Amino acid sequence: MKIDISDILVSDGADMKVDLTGVPLQQEPADGYIIEGDMSFCGTLTNNNGILHLAGWLEAVYKSACYRCLGEVSSRLRLKISENFTSNSDADKKDMYPFEGKMLDISRALNDNIILNLPMKHLCSDQCRGLCSKCGGNLNEVQCDCIDDGIDPRMEGLNKFFERS
Ligand SMILES: [Zn+2]
Ligand SMILES: [Zn+2]
Repeated sequence: MKIDISDILVSDGADMKVDLTGVPLQQEPADGYIIEGDMSFCGTLTNNNGILHLAGWLEAVYKSACYRCLGEVSSRLRLKISENFTSNSDADKKDMYPFEGKMLDISRALNDNIILNLPMKHLCSDQCRGLCSKCGGNLNEVQCDCIDDGIDPRMEGLNKFFERS
């Protein structure tokens, strides 16, 4: 996702509106997270004495797995973006992104923001019943015959021990 910055580069304080849609840098920014289609950015780019400040909102739709039943979950990500870009060689030291010439590529900055902000846990629904701990069946879809005896399998050995004594 590139922006032609030739207009704002020439004058300090100049800004421009940015409204971009493009292919994400990584379609799978993290394990099990797949971005669907294009993502979009809408905001402004300002030239602050040679440092370009990008501010606005990023939107993307992605797929992941429900952490209870492993079913597919589609979610929308809407992130507030605030990043700086510099043409100086010490960009990394100043926690900025580098740029060269008259085209500014914001793909890496947006990708980093996505990686940092992906929620850890997704549920297909608040009522998701998850998988049966005995047979592994998806309890949203099947009614298995397993009896829930309420015993944590890790505790079973301990219970047997007490029964014997
Ligand atoms: Zn689920
Ligand atoms: Zn079962």
